[in-house]
Amino acid sequence: MFRQGSMYERLYEINAGKPWLGRMKPFRVVGNVYFIGTYQASSHIVDTGEGLIMIDTGYANTAYLVLHSLHELGFDVRDIRYIVNTHWHGDHTEATAAFVDLSGAKALIGREDAEKAAQHFTPDIWIDDGDTLSLGNVTMRFMHTPGHTKGTISFFFDVEEGGRTLRVGSFGGAGLNTMVRSRFDFEGCREAYRASLHRLMEERVDVFLGNHTWNNDTYGKSLLLCEGKENPFIDSTLWGTFLHDYEKRLDEVIKNDQ
Ligand SMILES: [Zn+2]
Repeated sequence: MFRQGSMYERLYEINAGKPWLGRMKPFRVVGNVYFIGTYQASSHIVDTGEGLIMIDTGYANTAYLVLHSLHELGFDVRDIRYIVNTHWHGDHTEATAAFVDLSGAKALIGREDAEKAAQHFTPDIWIDDGDTLSLGNVTMRFMHTPGHTKGTISFFFDVEEGGRTLRVGSFGGAGLNTMVRSRFDFEGCREAYRASLHRLMEERVDVFLGNHTWNNDTYGKSLLLCEGKENPFIDSTLWGTFLHDYEKRLDEVIKNDQ
């Protein structure tokens, strides 16, 4: 299991063919939201009371780790009704076909990513800007936030925690790796990415879910949670800070890759 102290070394080993070193202990993030992912790729479960919504499935070679985490929390894979895929890249979607196979769930992806996603799974539902997904006590609202890929989808929904209603939000594709010319997903992606950041900044988010653990320090915060500290995932400032920081990073990437 992943341990702190050598994160980058460990990520190197993970990428060099030892995916199991990225295993993380699954935990409840907030309300009815659970982390079941690995250090290299986040996966979340939302327990709606009438079935589960899974968000991103991770790499194919970590499917067994994610499945193990799901079971460790007491869930049954057959209760997954929907799998939301934030964008077509393999670190988020490679295991989707396996989880569809085990659960019979419907797989969702942004309309503009559906064609490329087909190399990993067969999308059942194509998401457009403003679409919603309702199941049990959850209504998820989707925002089309192109940039990292053409069909990147971000999402928002409310949870209850300690008598409060909190807004959960996630940016479906923050990675700046595709802002480098040689790796563009589509023409105009930089402008689209910036516009997406500005739209996302308009949203109030109390709990920022990263679709990579380094976006919101999922790992460090999970350790604090285990120590019984006040829930570090509830932080209404992180969303804005993160988005502004990524706009600065975008400027840097553009400056260095004219
Ligand atoms: Zn990606």
